[in-house]
Amino acid sequence: MRVDPRRSRERMVREQVEAGGVRDEAVLTAMLDVPRHLFVEEALAAKAYTDSPLPIGEGQTISKPYIVARMTEMLQVKPDMKVLEIGTGSGYQSAVLACMGADVYSVERIRSLHIRARELLFELRMFNVWFKLDDGTMGWPEEAPFDRVIVTAGGPQIPQPLIDQLADNGRMVIPVGTDRGTQRLVLVEKIEGEVTFTDELGVRFVDLVGEHGW
Ligand code: SAH
Repeated sequence: MRVDPRRSRERMVREQVEAGGVRDEAVLTAMLDVPRHLFVEEALAAKAYTDSPLPIGEGQTISKPYIVARMTEMLQVKPDMKVLEIGTGSGYQSAVLACMGADVYSVERIRSLHIRARELLFELRMFNVWFKLDDGTMGWPEEAPFDRVIVTAGGPQIPQPLIDQLADNGRMVIPVGTDRGTQRLVLVEKIEGEVTFTDELGVRFVDLVGEHGW
């Protein structure tokens, strides 16, 4: 049976994203537009629109659609904002942010994933994404400050360089957990230089491996 990816995405957005309470129109539109099936391993393309995380190679995973949408909504991204992403992985989250008109700076530590994501986004003509192969717990100091920071791997604490590189009135969304079983998604806000932390929900991400991670 042939599946129409656009129809699959409409269903995904209705039954997983909107049903989960995500209302931000810009997020919903981006999730409808980005061809998620191109970002997962080819053998799993048929499962790309199901309500589950999926392998993307190198022992890494792409989050389920609802979590991508929820994190993106929490970020409150507006066109032309400068967004730092740690953990490029497949490039799916970068593509969603790029579709919302952000300038995305994405760091990945595994070379094969970094290269594949860069090639795929080029093929999709998403030119407002810049990629770097490096330890993302150090941020991207040459490009700082960032209006938004999104981290899609979890470590024991929030890397200080990422807090330092967040612009004033900036927002960061990051999974944090001292114990791998109880990771929490934390919203970090910097308002007039003062940093606040809000615990949002329980999550399970792959390890943030690096200087300020595991
Ligand atoms: N956002 C991705 C999913 C990322 S999975 C997507 O949409 O597909 C988490 C990724 O974080 C993995 O690719 C992993 O290699 C990467 N990662 C883990 N620690 C990192 C670090 N210190 N710096 C950069 N990338 C890191």
